[in-house]
Amino acid sequence: MSSRNPSVAIIGAGMSGLCMAIRLLQAGINRFVIYEKGSDVGGTWRDNTYPGLYCDVPSRFYQYTFAPDPDWSRFFSPGEEIQRYFSGVADRYGLRGRIRFGTEVVSAEFAGDRWHIRTSTGEESTVDFLVSATGVLHHPRSPDFPGLESFSGKVFHSARWDHSLDPRGKRIAVVGTGSTGVQIVCGLAVTAGRLELFQRTAQWIFPAPNPRYTTVGKRAHRSIPWLSRLAYMTYRALFEAYTKAFTKPGLRRRFIAAVCRANLRTVRDPELRRKLTPDYQPMCKRLVISGEFYRAVQRDNVQLVTDRIDHIEPRGIVTDDGELHELDAIVLATGFDAHAYVRPVRLIGRDGLTLEEAWQDGPRAHNTVAVPGFPNFFMLMGPHSPVANYALTAIAENQAEHILRWIRRWQQGEFDSVAPTPQALERFHATLRTAMPATVWASGCDSWYIGQDGLPEVWPFTPAEHRKLLLSPPDPADYELRGGTGAGQAVAATARWRPAPSRFRGVPR
Ligand code: NAP
Repeated sequence: MSSRNPSVAIIGAGMSGLCMAIRLLQAGINRFVIYEKGSDVGGTWRDNTYPGLYCDVPSRFYQYTFAPDPDWSRFFSPGEEIQRYFSGVADRYGLRGRIRFGTEVVSAEFAGDRWHIRTSTGEESTVDFLVSATGVLHHPRSPDFPGLESFSGKVFHSARWDHSLDPRGKRIAVVGTGSTGVQIVCGLAVTAGRLELFQRTAQWIFPAPNPRYTTVGKRAHRSIPWLSRLAYMTYRALFEAYTKAFTKPGLRRRFIAAVCRANLRTVRDPELRRKLTPDYQPMCKRLVISGEFYRAVQRDNVQLVTDRIDHIEPRGIVTDDGELHELDAIVLATGFDAHAYVRPVRLIGRDGLTLEEAWQDGPRAHNTVAVPGFPNFFMLMGPHSPVANYALTAIAENQAEHILRWIRRWQQGEFDSVAPTPQALERFHATLRTAMPATVWASGCDSWYIGQDGLPEVWPFTPAEHRKLLLSPPDPADYELRGGTGAGQAVAATARWRPAPSRFRGVPR
């Protein structure tokens, strides 16, 4: 039986792009390139360097199963440690030589069963498969407050932290109370002279301590590799149970809501507590996890401002009650455009169909990874992926495995190009839409989960169901397969859809 040697281009060297690359290497596929517009790997962990940054998913779960790290310092890892981890993994797998740093993919067009890629550096190349790993929270969203440009101090978005700012003794405003704003407040409360948190909408906060791992514990994880596996599987099971609170009403949802409400009651001042009380259900917006926020916001040098920002002048922020808040720096923790998937890459599929045309009603992807009319194109963290309070490393691994299985079928000559049918996507999307009203994200609040159609754009079932969907044999009727050498076509699709490889293979460290 023939085995063809595919060429693959991956856009992005963040957590999911690295994951895809490593899975290709593990499968013996060496002809791939990663285009990365930045100067280092790590994506969001490279870009976000703000004080107080950590990942609110346990370290022992937020890691690749094929590269467990026994040395995590804390239950929730600080951002720089996570960046070191991804950087170290890229080194260990020799990925840097395959990454074109400082090279942005400008356009990609599917013609003659291949993707023709053009980059910002003028490079042109042609590959069999194109994988987008451009991240879900990548494009900073900065509000255009009137007068913002006239501010005489420093002003920057949280994902573009200006490290020339010495916060000691300074008057600093943080605009935004998402996970980022909350972490920055905790990170700056002790050092800033005065910290003003501008809150448009209050957030529910789930309290979770962040203990250090002991030397003994780390040593045990280093010498007994299955401990990492045990910890990972335990957290995965716990998170599976926890995410059911998002997808269906019931006891779990009530329990998490009760914990958040009890946490809020730890705020002593009734007026401050009132201001911090959201008017929507816990978890409707992405749940903020912090064991420190209420303590930080009750400090004497921290002020919660709930008046709307009217405009900005050279000396500071003027709220709609006319008060001038004099400041040295303004941090915009105002989030990201979470619907910009793949863009601004100009993607042109079969018969000149652009991604803009395909997504005129909003971003959609069959099974979260593929788009009708765009053959041999796959996404990691694409529309409707399970991105809510879960380890995105786990999601990336499942999606990478799914993509790899399609590539293996191509290797066997089963097809030259594969894309889901429009009907398959319509059915898939209808299933999601039907499930959405039961989710907590549709219970009446605004958040970055909400798409153009007013419905959440995330996965409305459990991550386990997503894993099952991606790792089960796909329904042949859902895909249009064209061409192929004929060598592998007689073999039933299911025969090529082997079970997932065993996890935790261990990586030389
Ligand atoms: P976000 O959740 O979208 O929050 C943005 C905040 O800015 C909101 O409080 C929003 O208020 C406020 N805002 C936006 N425009 C504003 C305006 N014009 N005036 C006043 N306030 C404005 O963004 P984020 O905090 O950067 O977090 C985004 C996501 O990143 C998180 O949900 C999470 O998925 C991820 N993240 C994860 C971690 C982690 O530990 N794993 C840490 C940080 C971030 P409204 O609520 O009123 O819109």
